[in-house]
Amino acid sequence: MRMFKQSQWFLKWVLPASVSALVGAILLGTLYWAAARTDEVAAERQKDLVALIVSKIQSSVAHDQESATVWDDAVTKAKERDHDWLDVNLGQWMNTYFGHDAAVVLSADGLPIYRFIAKSAGSASPEELHLAYSPLAKRLRERLVAGDQEGMSDRVLSIGESDLTYVGERPAVVSVKPITSDTGEIEQQAGEESLHVAVRFLDRDFPTELGNEYQFAEMQFTTTMPPDKRHSQIALTSKSGLVMGYFNWHPFEPGTSVLHATLPVVGLSVLGIFIAASLAGRAIWRRSVKLNSNRQELQHLALRDPLTGLANRAHFKSELAARLQQVLPHDCCSVLYIDLDRFKAVNDTYGHPTGDRLLSLAAERMREILPDALIGRIGGDEFTALLERIEADEVVTIAQRIVVCLREPFEIGGIYVSIGASVGVAIATGTNANADELTRQADIALYHAKAAGRNAYAVFGDHMDELLRTRRKLERDLRAALAAGTQIEVVYQPVYFADSSGPCSVEALARWKHPELGPVGPDVFIPLAEEIGVIHKIGSFVLEDACSLIAELPSISVAVNASAAELASPGYPLRVLSTLAKWAVEPARLEIEITESLAISAEEETERNILMLRTAGVRFAIDDFGTGYSSFSRVQNVTVDRLKIDKSFIGRIREGQNSAVVEAIINMARAQGLQTTAEGVETNEQRDALKSLGCDNIQGFLMSRPIARGEVMALLHAGHKSENA
Ligand code: C2E
Ligand code: CA
Ligand code: CA
Repeated sequence: MRMFKQSQWFLKWVLPASVSALVGAILLGTLYWAAARTDEVAAERQKDLVALIVSKIQSSVAHDQESATVWDDAVTKAKERDHDWLDVNLGQWMNTYFGHDAAVVLSADGLPIYRFIAKSAGSASPEELHLAYSPLAKRLRERLVAGDQEGMSDRVLSIGESDLTYVGERPAVVSVKPITSDTGEIEQQAGEESLHVAVRFLDRDFPTELGNEYQFAEMQFTTTMPPDKRHSQIALTSKSGLVMGYFNWHPFEPGTSVLHATLPVVGLSVLGIFIAASLAGRAIWRRSVKLNSNRQELQHLALRDPLTGLANRAHFKSELAARLQQVLPHDCCSVLYIDLDRFKAVNDTYGHPTGDRLLSLAAERMREILPDALIGRIGGDEFTALLERIEADEVVTIAQRIVVCLREPFEIGGIYVSIGASVGVAIATGTNANADELTRQADIALYHAKAAGRNAYAVFGDHMDELLRTRRKLERDLRAALAAGTQIEVVYQPVYFADSSGPCSVEALARWKHPELGPVGPDVFIPLAEEIGVIHKIGSFVLEDACSLIAELPSISVAVNASAAELASPGYPLRVLSTLAKWAVEPARLEIEITESLAISAEEETERNILMLRTAGVRFAIDDFGTGYSSFSRVQNVTVDRLKIDKSFIGRIREGQNSAVVEAIINMARAQGLQTTAEGVETNEQRDALKSLGCDNIQGFLMSRPIARGEVMALLHAGHKSENA
């Protein structure tokens, strides 16, 4: 149950949460990664761009200068030291148009002849300016003297020197250019040119303007590396390698923006997945709950016998094996094999519903006696029980109680039916401690209990195994006997008219002359033949012999015994009729003796066979009448010609004893138009009584034992002779 709850919780919550968490994590991870990568690339691009812009500024300052420094007028005016002209063209103008913050014009001897410092330059002093441009001016002058023209092109009209450097405390681009003739008409001595210095500060407003122009957020200049890790920066480095400070800005992060835009969607998706998974989990849970209950139901059905609720055969078997392992060898264990006696008769007589009810009631009684034992119904009317931890003496008592208890009549729908039970007991010892062997021994014990006359129990003993071996041998021998065809013989017991005491027919009875054991009685080998499925061979053999006999004795008829298995076989009528035809015996001279239960409730096939044979003229008799489970009322509908009253009733006809039952049978039979034969007539008294009761025929040791074929011939011929005489 706890397992169940856990898995419910798992399916409803843990699994969906894990699935959505996993999907969410994968989704978010991928998004974050992509965003980070995008931002990284973007940041690199921006850094490149800023670096490019800074270097552009450097060259653009120089380029701006050339618009006024490469000009004849400028050369002249510088020489003349025309302050106003210089102020307008090399100072103000450059400030206005190019945003230069300061300008200085140096004379040929390096002295500042003009100086412009814009308001934006703030507190920059001439000395600070001087410090900043003088190394550049010096180097340019040297290059001019040397005639170095490196860097000149169509667009760069003059050489120049520029660097990133400090002006006072402020970083700036400082560029120095010579003032040269644009036409070439003014001759200038190399190194004697006036120089123009332009300064452009890189701090304060400049980064902001740059940021606005190029869309860099929070662009600023700092002298130290900014602590904010999220800021991008590039270092401003002078030619000498001195880091002057940093441009830093908040980088444009396209990945992060996309991420932020998608996060709600991702969140919703994860939620959606969670809900879907949770719903699916619930559905799976409900399904599994249902499946589980179905499975339990099926399992119950698979393990139980639906009629009695006891364990079925398979379940008993597996359970027995499992429990034996647990209990043995420390404790006692026994198996009971219980078989209901005469159940088939009740079932046949009263119908299946009554039979079913009887089985349930019998099962109930067993459960009452053995409330704690494992009981199984392993066949139609066969039960098994496992007794655990019960000593041998107690087991025997229990077996006895079962026999006694099941002998008590059962009340079913107002009628009382009596059956009985035989019980085989096997008690586990060291040598038989496995399920199969124990069951086998219980089965053998049961066989003995039945052989002992039913309503009995028997405990397995080794001698039974010996008997079983004997039986197996007998089975083999019987098959061999039938194959050889010489050991089975037929004897005939004459049947007489009760009044005239002349023979009217003979009953064919099978005999087996066993080569080692001598004669084996039909009570032994007929049931054996039925069990091993060879009875029809015996039946055919007897029928053949019987027909061949009466073919020679036209005055009498013959009776043969037929087993249920024979009568149910589809080929039986044809076999009988063709045998009759072969010996040219009229069908009416053959009588087939069947058992009482067969006559009352036969299978369809049997009924059809009987009808077919009777239609052809063959007669039928109910053998051993009175021992079966029929009542007189049920015989009324029966399609037979004769009742053979069982010898147990005849045996009771003794001096002074009541023969009421026999009388009733005879009267009933007569009322139904049936003939009667009394079996087992051994005394004159019986014969006389039967005669006076109106019994038609009599059969028994008093008149004749079963005799050999030759003797029958002799008897009947003698009879003829005596009649003739
Ligand atoms: P059943 O058909 O009732 O046969 C009569 C049995 O009673 C015979 O025993 C016979 O010997 C015996 N008997 C006859 N008169 C007397 C008497 O006055 N007193 C006593 N105490 N017994 C008497 P048997 O030959 O041993 O046959 C036993 C049973 O075997 C038969 O009983 C029959 O059911 C069966 N059987 C015999 N032959 C065949 C056969 O060929 N086919 C089939 N299916 N069953 C057969
Ligand atoms: Ca018979
Ligand atoms: Ca009989």
